[in-house]
Amino acid sequence: MSELDLRDASALSQAVRSGTHSAESVARAALAAIEANAGLNAFLSVEPEPVLARARALDAELASGAKTLGSLFGVPVALKANLCLEGQELNCGSRLLSGYRPPYTATVVERLLEAGAIPIAATNMDEFAMGSSGENSAFGATLNPWAHEYTPGGSSSGSAVAVAAGITPLALGSDTGGSVRQPAALCGVSGFKPTYGRVSRYGLVAFGSSLDQVSPFANSVRDLELVSSVVSGRDRMDATSLDLPPIQSAERDDLSGLRVGLPDEAFDDGLADGVRERVEASLELLRSLGAVTVPVSLPHSAYAVATYYVVATAEASSNLARFDGVRFGRREEGDGSLAGMMAATRRAGFGDEVKRRILLGTHVLSSGYYEAWYGRAQRVRTLILEDYRRAFEACDVIVCPTSPTTAFRLGERTADPVAMYLSDVLTVPANLAGLPALSTPCGTASSNGGPELPVGLQWIGPAKGDEALLAVARCFQDRTDFHEAIPPQSRESSPS
Ligand code: GLN
Repeated sequence: MSELDLRDASALSQAVRSGTHSAESVARAALAAIEANAGLNAFLSVEPEPVLARARALDAELASGAKTLGSLFGVPVALKANLCLEGQELNCGSRLLSGYRPPYTATVVERLLEAGAIPIAATNMDEFAMGSSGENSAFGATLNPWAHEYTPGGSSSGSAVAVAAGITPLALGSDTGGSVRQPAALCGVSGFKPTYGRVSRYGLVAFGSSLDQVSPFANSVRDLELVSSVVSGRDRMDATSLDLPPIQSAERDDLSGLRVGLPDEAFDDGLADGVRERVEASLELLRSLGAVTVPVSLPHSAYAVATYYVVATAEASSNLARFDGVRFGRREEGDGSLAGMMAATRRAGFGDEVKRRILLGTHVLSSGYYEAWYGRAQRVRTLILEDYRRAFEACDVIVCPTSPTTAFRLGERTADPVAMYLSDVLTVPANLAGLPALSTPCGTASSNGGPELPVGLQWIGPAKGDEALLAVARCFQDRTDFHEAIPPQSRESSPS
């Protein structure tokens, strides 16, 4: 590899280890790509000095003849602005945390560092990860590199765009209700939410703790496997972390005999025509590769969005109580009393969507309403989980679209929170059930004469079946070329 290609993590790491490129030249190329794509608003804060210092330290390690170089040696990884890297600004897309610098590093970021990666903070996001379009960021929306008047999806908007625009080969985001899979689908990249508990949440700013999972973006499933093998595995700093070894790539040579479950509920009238066509074409391809498709039923998925917005907001109202002007970020004095200071800080610091969720979450947990809302939502959550357990008796993997539509126009859904919430109808069930799920590109479609935009294919597996799920998706990807499509509006600006 002579040209610097910032789209392939495995090849890039190989090139740095073999001395074809220095880590510093790779870091400089990524920083230049951030500059060249500044108009996409994918990054909130980038501090070049620590990035270059890190790269030089890696070059020194290589020059000293170090024997064991990590599997991500010299690879730049963009971090969503809710993942802690000691001393680097982390604002969660919120004015409330503007200028906040965490005193410690998230476990996933520690593991990236141990593997030789070059973390680059911090990518743009919906405020506190609440949103499906990036438009809830206090620092302006991120643009979709396929067509700038369209949203890249959210809430991990900047991380998805960093990978789609060829700025970094890998990025981390967080997926609470689809915030990695949905923007991956809308930007034409691959994104993977592991089984709940396989990746540590220590150092991820909490939104809905029983749903949140740190999740990577890459241009291929192969690279998702590579980064997952680094960041996953037990962590004693996270009490919900599963006692399982890191995710490793599993062998799988073909798809013959694979039972692919198709949930009726995910193929109903709500699907845009172009999305349906692309997904059905991929199902045809799966069959031609030897898979058999079987109908499965997830009858409670009709309640998934409602259940999610009770559980997630309840947890958010509790998690966000810590932002009170005392411990983190910004402070407004208000009337000078303690309560007045807290109220003024939260009034000025939080945006409308965050306030809406805190109100909703506080309501569903309040005395007299708790059983009717929160208690009931928890019971429906169990029913959703049981639907999947039954479905996986009949199939090995469930396949459906990731998002019912392709990317929508900026501003199109901002006035209607419910329309925005319905963007997640196909992704939230996997979070409620804690299951591993990924989105991979499956072609492009145009709606109403608009531009060709990516469509995502979603793969959902049984709990703890991360390795087998990734192997199936990789096998499909190795036999197709959907993941090689590059967004037209980032072609000229990517450095070589
Ligand atoms: N879009 C969903 C929400 O707004 C999911 C967010 C996420 O996964 N962080 O809550």
